[in-house]
Amino acid sequence: MIKKAICTLSLCIALTAITSFVNAPAPPQKPTLKTIIVDAGHGGKAIGARGKYSTEKKVCLAIALKLGKMLDQIPGVRVVYTRTSDVYVDNRYRATMANNNKGDLYISIHANSAPPSVTKKKIGTKKEVYYVGKGKKRKKKTRIVPRYKIYTSPNPAHGTETYIWAADRDDEKGDFVGERISEEAEKGEYTPNIHDPEFKIKSLLWTKKFFDKSLRLATLVEDEFTKGGRSSRGVKQRNNEGIWILQATAMPSILVETGFISNRKDEDYLNNAKGQEELARQIFQAVKRYKQSTEPK
Ligand SMILES: [Zn+2]
Repeated sequence: MIKKAICTLSLCIALTAITSFVNAPAPPQKPTLKTIIVDAGHGGKAIGARGKYSTEKKVCLAIALKLGKMLDQIPGVRVVYTRTSDVYVDNRYRATMANNNKGDLYISIHANSAPPSVTKKKIGTKKEVYYVGKGKKRKKKTRIVPRYKIYTSPNPAHGTETYIWAADRDDEKGDFVGERISEEAEKGEYTPNIHDPEFKIKSLLWTKKFFDKSLRLATLVEDEFTKGGRSSRGVKQRNNEGIWILQATAMPSILVETGFISNRKDEDYLNNAKGQEELARQIFQAVKRYKQSTEPK
């Protein structure tokens, strides 16, 4: 109980501190969704995953361009693409571009892949020769051993997944968020001191908000996929190198794995113009719902 009381007290102090900072300088978030960064993964020499007959970089671009076109129709929204053709784009460049354009949302489009399943099946027996002893005592012997055949079959994994940056590594995202706060503040009257606890708390608050918003959008995207009849593998939190871009973008950001290119049915869907259109529309619907739920009425 004592422990609980102390915790409650420190929580109160922390909350009071945070509340006073929230009411302090610049607003903690933009009221409207103005700039959306649409990122087609890979490109150029970065092919990404390969399917039976197509590449990830190609399907990502097709879906991203269709999505961008739809998002452009939302009044007041500006779409910025990280690439619009088959060119190589460095991840650092993607992040810098998104941050410099003051993106309010970052949507990265990818396609998944899973290695083939390998199974070993016994198909009979065979005679095997082996030797025991050394020198003159060396004797040749035989024994019966099983015979196997290796079968590879396509991995059954299929469906969609949406990634967000794991909350336990928010401190790293916080660095990028801090940079953005500094830049925006410098345009105003004051130059923030990044070592100031006030600045740190503000940066933490922004990072937390971005995390909540990323999670909200990711959930809506997977919900739209499910409604559209796709098989959803859900929202996943990761902090591996593969989704570094989500950490480096100082805004709510998601990475959508639109299907498994290693799965024949998914690959056909990802390459089909109607499939691409449906995927783009489902992500678009999710963004519209996100916009409604995050903006003041
Ligand atoms: Zn990818």
